[in-house]
Amino acid sequence: MSDTALADLLFGPNIEDKSCGDCIACCVITNIDTPELVKPEGVVCPHCTGGGCGIYETRPQVCRSYNCGYKRIPSMPPESRPDQMGVMWTLERHLPPRNVFEHLYFVGVAVDDPRSLESVLTNDVLAMLSQSVLPVFVSWNGIKTLVHPEPNLADAIMNPAPQRDRALVKQGREWLKHYAPFARLGGGEHTDLPYGL
Ligand code: SF4
Ligand code: SF4
Repeated sequence: MSDTALADLLFGPNIEDKSCGDCIACCVITNIDTPELVKPEGVVCPHCTGGGCGIYETRPQVCRSYNCGYKRIPSMPPESRPDQMGVMWTLERHLPPRNVFEHLYFVGVAVDDPRSLESVLTNDVLAMLSQSVLPVFVSWNGIKTLVHPEPNLADAIMNPAPQRDRALVKQGREWLKHYAPFARLGGGEHTDLPYGL
C-alpha cells in the first residue's frame, strides 16, 4: 500500500478547507527520493521560495499527494499548523523496521526548535494520537524518541523474558496483538515480523 493510501486510511483524507498558507515544513523536513525530485531530510527543497513552492503548478506527484497530520485531522486547530506549532505530524514506516515500533507509526517532527515538542499543544496532539494503537514518536535533528507505548510497556514488549511484572508482559502481548495488522500494512512484506507479530 502506498504511503498516501496508508495516510488516507489511518490519518484521514486531506481536508481541502485547511490551507498550507506560508507553511513550508514538509518542503524541509521530508526525505524525497523520486525520479522527479531528490531532496534529503532536513534540507530545504531547491524549489522552495521560503513562503511556498516555486513550481507549484508543475510540482511532482509526491508533493501533490503529501499532506501532514494537520491537513488530515479535523480536530487539529489552525494554531497547530506546523509553521505555527513548530511540529509537523506525519505517518511513517522505516523500511526495513529496526524494531517492532517502526513498522508503522506516527511521528511529530520539531520544525526548528526542540522546545516545540514540549508545548501544551504538542502534548494535546500526543495524547490524541496515543489513543490509537500505533506507536507515537517525537523527533528532532533526525533522532526519534518513542512516547507511546510508554517506556515500561515498550520495554516489556521488546524484552518480555526478564520482566518481573507479568501483568505488564501480558499488556504488551495484547498491544502486539492489536498492532500486528497495522504492522503488516506498514512493513510486513519487508521483514519476518518478530516479537510474535
Ligand atoms: S507541512 Fe502540512 S501544512 Fe505545512 S506545507 Fe506541508 S502539508 Fe501544508
Ligand atoms: S517541489 Fe515544491 S512542494 Fe515539492 S518539496 Fe519542493 S518546494 Fe515543496
